[in-house]
Amino acid sequence: MLFPAEEVIWRGRRTGTEFTVHDAAPADGSVPAGPYAFLGVRGCDTSASAIHDAVLTSRTYADVRYAVRRQGAFVVAVTCSDPGGTCFCASMRTGPRPTQGYDLALTELLDGASHRFLVEVGSSRGAEVLADVVSVPAPEADVRAADEIARSAASRMGRELDTDGLKELLYASAESPRWDDVASRCLACTSCTMVCPTCFCTSVEDVADLTGDVAERRRVWDSCFSEDFSYIHGGSVRPESRSRYRQWMTHKLASWVDQFGMSGCVGCGRCITWCPAAIDITAEAAALRWTPQPAATRS
Ligand code: SF4
Ligand code: SF4
Repeated sequence: MLFPAEEVIWRGRRTGTEFTVHDAAPADGSVPAGPYAFLGVRGCDTSASAIHDAVLTSRTYADVRYAVRRQGAFVVAVTCSDPGGTCFCASMRTGPRPTQGYDLALTELLDGASHRFLVEVGSSRGAEVLADVVSVPAPEADVRAADEIARSAASRMGRELDTDGLKELLYASAESPRWDDVASRCLACTSCTMVCPTCFCTSVEDVADLTGDVAERRRVWDSCFSEDFSYIHGGSVRPESRSRYRQWMTHKLASWVDQFGMSGCVGCGRCITWCPAAIDITAEAAALRWTPQPAATRS
């Protein structure tokens, strides 16, 4: 919703010998203007939004459309009490209890006939909304119960990622034979990048109607797994799946840290769930640890 797959950047119309360009408004695409309220957001996704904030709004040129949608958004996050088999947010320290990027965060407490929520306030707007809701100061027992729900969920994550020295491991593994192994399975289908909540790469397409009088420039999601993505004059920089998977994983788990000061992976596990070849980023990272490095590295 905040960073749609396709968005009109501008639209132009030819009238006689004139061509008039209109800036598309932030809402002038497939996405409504907002403001939005997001309810029940998990910690992985509040952290992914924080990553998009850093990437899309904190650098020299902000993404204006993203910034407008983001500023107006109200986020009610929730502690995840039932993690999936491909989740590893506990390893990435983004969950199961939301750690950032919310106005209000709820932990559902169910005991016997009683059903209530422990509420944490993350912003002044969250405090304003909570003031309009019937609430009481949380007793210590409820605070402990919420802690226990998060602890229990963390212990039931389906996956785990050892982040100790991970950045250095990936930089040292540029010539690991493991990349050939994963390339023999990877279909370069781009699914992992299409479902990843932190991916942000886009391309630009120009589209005209059949009369040739109306033209649009659209920004569309792109993927580092497609051959065209790294095409420069003379050819593709990453023509093989080996180099594309290496680029994707090394960026997520290593160079992202140097670029933006945080990991590019929040441990949501979606890339594992949606990979048709059952490639698992946590398994690939573990395999790099025990795959012997070549004696001499190529330049
Ligand atoms: S989803 Fe799996 S097969 Fe498709 S590009 Fe990603 S790693 Fe390769
Ligand atoms: S790399 Fe995979 S697990 Fe990590 S944030 Fe992206 S989709 Fe989620």
